[in-house]
Amino acid sequence: MNKTFIRRRKSNCIYVGNIPIGGDYPISVQSMTNTDTVNVEQTVNQINMLKFNGADIIRISIPNMDAAESFKKIRSSTKNIPLVADIHFDYRIALKVAEYGVDCIRINPGNIGNIRRIKTLIDCAKYYNIPIRIGVNSGSLEHRFKNKYNKAVSAEALFESVMRQVNIFDKLNFSYFKVSVKSSDVLTTIKAYQLVAKSIDQPLHVGVTETGTTRIGITKSAIGIGLLLMMGIGDTIRVSLTTNPIEEVKVAFDILRSLHLRYRGINFITCPTCARQEFDVISTANNLEKKLNDIITPINISIIGCIVNGLGEALRSDIGIVGGRKNSSLYINGIRQPNKIKNNNIVDYLELVIRSKTNTYIK
Ligand code: SF4
Repeated sequence: MNKTFIRRRKSNCIYVGNIPIGGDYPISVQSMTNTDTVNVEQTVNQINMLKFNGADIIRISIPNMDAAESFKKIRSSTKNIPLVADIHFDYRIALKVAEYGVDCIRINPGNIGNIRRIKTLIDCAKYYNIPIRIGVNSGSLEHRFKNKYNKAVSAEALFESVMRQVNIFDKLNFSYFKVSVKSSDVLTTIKAYQLVAKSIDQPLHVGVTETGTTRIGITKSAIGIGLLLMMGIGDTIRVSLTTNPIEEVKVAFDILRSLHLRYRGINFITCPTCARQEFDVISTANNLEKKLNDIITPINISIIGCIVNGLGEALRSDIGIVGGRKNSSLYINGIRQPNKIKNNNIVDYLELVIRSKTNTYIK
């Protein structure tokens, strides 16, 4: 696998459970459950599915004390999975989940309340030795900064909201935190993170928020998170999508893979298809992606419809198919295999070859 040339911003390191964030540690992937937290069984199932699909850290909304009590049970069923509690409005809920073993508390400066409450929260984080995430969002920005910028949620307004909270933490002698400063607008997000990155040493949780429907959300996240990572900004990422959160994890790894920052699972190299294609590339690729979604070994698979680009890609891939009339050529580690594959059997044959190379079994 290629190594990245990206130079990361230097940051302090914090731990969420056993996952380090910042320093030279790998950029971790986060997602969030969207089940009702009070439904312990559903939430534990979703946490396990997210973990299975590669999430390093999982955040859970704790909207009230009932949810905090459910968190206690969730915690006991997910002992080794780093969990973050998402807290808004009522700091006492944070105190409760800290007691129950949460690994990190996310607060929103827009609604967490006065300094006395924040001090209580920080004393609690110090006592349990857990980090806090200061998470500013464009949809819940503090009124004082909205008013200052004539109701506009600018990058400067988001930045000032973060820094006000950072200064409070500083006065209370607490530096064990990370920061996010997300907007639903990609360019505002990027600018806000650039401002924060220059001003503090703590690690940054990077993402674009409220991104829209899946296709639009993937595009905005790829541009926003991708550009920030290119600049070396970002120690942990969350792709926010309006869909099953497992997709968030998959897209996050696609972004990291694209920048050669981290590898997991199959990298498909497929052509857009045209009149020259010798087999149905689109259905072949989509079927294989579905069948092989359990594979976590990093591997490059090229599925190309004809010789024009097929040979070049196959020679650079771990496994490659070059479309031919009725039968296609198979390359493994850049070496052409003696037997051709019948075009009507490519999916099944390739699945066997890929599973053999990744030591996995048909489900
Ligand atoms: S590789 Fe061949 S089939 Fe695929 S888009 Fe290019 S010319 Fe068309």
